[in-house]
Amino acid sequence: MRGREGGRPASARARGREKRPARPPTPTLSFPSHETGHYFAIDIGGTNFRVVYVSLDDSPGGVAAVEMRDTPIPDAAYICPAAGLFDMMARGLLDFGRDIGVLGEGEQPPTVGFCFSFPCDQTALDAGVLLKLTKRFQNEGAVGTDPVEQLRAAFARAGEPAAKVVALLNDSVGTLAGGRYTDPAVELGVILGTGTNAAYVETATSVPKLDAAAANSLRGGRVVVNTEWGGFADDSLPTLDADRELDAATPHAGEQLMEKQMSGMYLGEVARRLLVSLASSGVLFSGRVPKRLAEPGCVTTAHVARCDGDRSLALAATAAVLADALGATTTSYLDRRLVRRVCHLVALRSARLFATAVAALLRQIGRDASSGPPVAAAVDGGVFEHYALYRGYATAALVELLGRSAASRVRLNRVRDASSRGAAFLAAAADHAAQHAGAAPAPARELVAV
Ligand code: ADP
Ligand code: MG
Repeated sequence: MRGREGGRPASARARGREKRPARPPTPTLSFPSHETGHYFAIDIGGTNFRVVYVSLDDSPGGVAAVEMRDTPIPDAAYICPAAGLFDMMARGLLDFGRDIGVLGEGEQPPTVGFCFSFPCDQTALDAGVLLKLTKRFQNEGAVGTDPVEQLRAAFARAGEPAAKVVALLNDSVGTLAGGRYTDPAVELGVILGTGTNAAYVETATSVPKLDAAAANSLRGGRVVVNTEWGGFADDSLPTLDADRELDAATPHAGEQLMEKQMSGMYLGEVARRLLVSLASSGVLFSGRVPKRLAEPGCVTTAHVARCDGDRSLALAATAAVLADALGATTTSYLDRRLVRRVCHLVALRSARLFATAVAALLRQIGRDASSGPPVAAAVDGGVFEHYALYRGYATAALVELLGRSAASRVRLNRVRDASSRGAAFLAAAADHAAQHAGAAPAPARELVAV
């Protein structure tokens, strides 16, 4: 899987030929081992900002308590200077910890795993350099800095300078860790929410970026590779006029092209643009383009899901979506059928890309065969979670790609909140590793280099 680093004004095709992954393998850690104690995570990267508290004990499974708080990211936070964005996160975690009674007077300062879902050049478990912002984020002063340092500074500004930020990861790595914590067959962590990405467990000696000595010195001999597959783009990714127009209208034009055909932030907008083009050419709405249809963002991925799933005789759910989203109250049955068809095709294309990318990673790790033990992908994100038909399309495409027998050995585990939990688990593992540095390794439940 090829990723790319963004920011250069070359054409998407030229960029697609670059063979360098967007980011190096993340540093090593044995996971999960015998972590115990109280840990926090901050999970940000899309629509919601989440803070998590987990209490781990030494029992099998190990999770004694989990608390979470989800907050929609306010519009201002997408465009404010970077310090404002990090202040929101630090304050959000401290308020949450106090509200649930585990931070504040007489309590230990928090130990935090930071799930920050943007391409970073990771230099240590708790350090990296932000390569680019994606999705709606345009915060000045963020790119080129270390997100962990930014978060530490924000904790200091919020009056908690002793907060420990011990792990930096993105949501695909968090999902892999969270999914694997409970299911050892998990080899892939996949995100299909606001954005899309995947991380997988790779044999260290197969990673060209690691020299042989480094690869051989890794405990367990395996590393996690963050593919940044949302950034995939080359001649094999066909595009429509609607895709090119959508891309040109985004803050990060020319980047994340596969993400723009696949993820929740964009599917509604792809559908809207196709509907505009059908209406303008007279095929839809008798050529009368509803006024609101011209407004970017008025069709969401949830609308796409509702229309696609409409099985009523008169297509009543589609009629309701057209009335709600576009103010179009007098649509014909043929209009509604065409709208449903467009929504179906937009979702189907996404699901088939999803399956293709999963199949490519399975082939890469030699797990696409019709014999051998079962393998699982942990999948987190709003699209995969809420859109049941989509999951069916993805499964059917996997069968088409791998054959029935091989596909029957592949499980797509729908795991809610895996990225956030995984970030807290990795914080625990990092803290454990730091406390036992130099000592003989604890008998790990399972050794994986992350
Ligand atoms: P994040 O990516 O911020 O972690 P989520 O995983 O919750 O957030 O995913 C948010 C995405 O889920 C949104 O882009 C939204 O379009 C999509 N989504 C929400 N509800 C639905 C739905 N009913 N059907 C399909 N997609 C949905
Ligand atoms: Mg998420």
